[in-house]
Amino acid sequence: MKKLTGLQIQKYLPKTNCKECGSNTCLAFAMKLAAKKADLADCPYASDEAKAVLGAASEPPVKGVAFGTDRSLKIGEETVFYRHEKTFVHQSLIAVNINDTDSSEKIESTLQAIKDYQLIRVGETLTIDMVAITQKSDSVAQFVTLAKKAWSMTQKPIVLHSQNPEALIKAAEAVKDSGSLIAAATAETADMLMKTARENNHALAVTAADLDSMVKITSQLKENGFNEILLQFQTHSLSEQFQTNSIARKSALTDNFKPLGYPTLRFIEGDDYLENIIMAVNEISKFGGIFVLPEFDPAQIVPLMTARMNIFTDPQKPIQVEPGVYPVGEPNANSPVFVTTNFSLTYFIISGEIENSGLSAWLVVPECEGMSVLTSWAAGKFSGSSIAGFIKESDLESKVNTREIIIPGYVSQISGELEENLPGWKAIVGPQESADLESFITNVVSPR
Ligand code: SF4
Repeated sequence: MKKLTGLQIQKYLPKTNCKECGSNTCLAFAMKLAAKKADLADCPYASDEAKAVLGAASEPPVKGVAFGTDRSLKIGEETVFYRHEKTFVHQSLIAVNINDTDSSEKIESTLQAIKDYQLIRVGETLTIDMVAITQKSDSVAQFVTLAKKAWSMTQKPIVLHSQNPEALIKAAEAVKDSGSLIAAATAETADMLMKTARENNHALAVTAADLDSMVKITSQLKENGFNEILLQFQTHSLSEQFQTNSIARKSALTDNFKPLGYPTLRFIEGDDYLENIIMAVNEISKFGGIFVLPEFDPAQIVPLMTARMNIFTDPQKPIQVEPGVYPVGEPNANSPVFVTTNFSLTYFIISGEIENSGLSAWLVVPECEGMSVLTSWAAGKFSGSSIAGFIKESDLESKVNTREIIIPGYVSQISGELEENLPGWKAIVGPQESADLESFITNVVSPR
């Protein structure tokens, strides 16, 4: 469909300038829609005609595809090339591969490890998203048995990976309705695998030696009414991987070229351990949809999940905790009181350091719009008067006997203002670095 301009889109909007969409005028909202930086659903008054006409025009240039029985794992729907332009919408999904030729002990232990794996970062529990199974044997039955086992043990969607269409069809039927992914259809097998994907409620990855051939397959599938598609590019180096992912994303975003407007699937399967990690990071930062790690290795998974969290955090919304007075350990009325900001990372580091010291304490976390200590202080959100106001509102004074509050060392200058606004309290300046908190607690707080 031809790209509509902001003025053309505005004609379909109510033109009441009610601002409920977050824009000051309907025209401003129309301009955002034209730039794919807003969603028509944000205007509660959009008419059916507007939805019919603008729905396709405003649909994300990268198609969304969902996995799992409840379709809660989503990829795609991206609207920007660079994260700082708006945000990336759905994070890359991480899968771990198992071969059907692996020993039964290895299969069992890997599936159990995938199922049990949890990484807790800044209050979020991160898990492995999918299991990939690769057919290396000549046996269809062996592949299908592994598909069933992977699904029954983990209940995670499966990436079914084989070059044998018969094995893919049988395995897809064996995990019907699991919301899995068949990988991958070629020009020759696209029709039959599309039928299988449709009948068993799975998505379908397509692969081809070059982009033109890929475009032919995806166009054909879409013409046949099937759109739950992923692209599995055949590349042979890190630079090729980077280029191909970038070309696909760019043509989808800037040229609104639908045949390449799908999320991607990539198997990381090189021999070089370090290069594999770089490839995985490249998938996270440069537009990967699902990437499959060659084996279960927490030493790889921890940094990759951390990198993914950083890239897919909305840059306009710092991750933050609710303002409040938090217990760390099992504090009572005589426990000491600390204060920090509600930036998640700061909160979890400080509460973790206090916990590690073995101390039980109260941690006061005023509203700082998710900014770190120095940033929020510079923005006037973490001042002596704002902290004092928060403490009074939270009724902390009725919960604790102490009238001492430990403030971060980087904002020692607020101690006077804090004491002025909180009569009867004394501000104790803590260390600048959180790493020094434990020794500060041992040497200064505990002996008091
Ligand atoms: S919510 Fe709809 S009607 Fe209101 S300003 Fe936005 S686009 Fe216009």
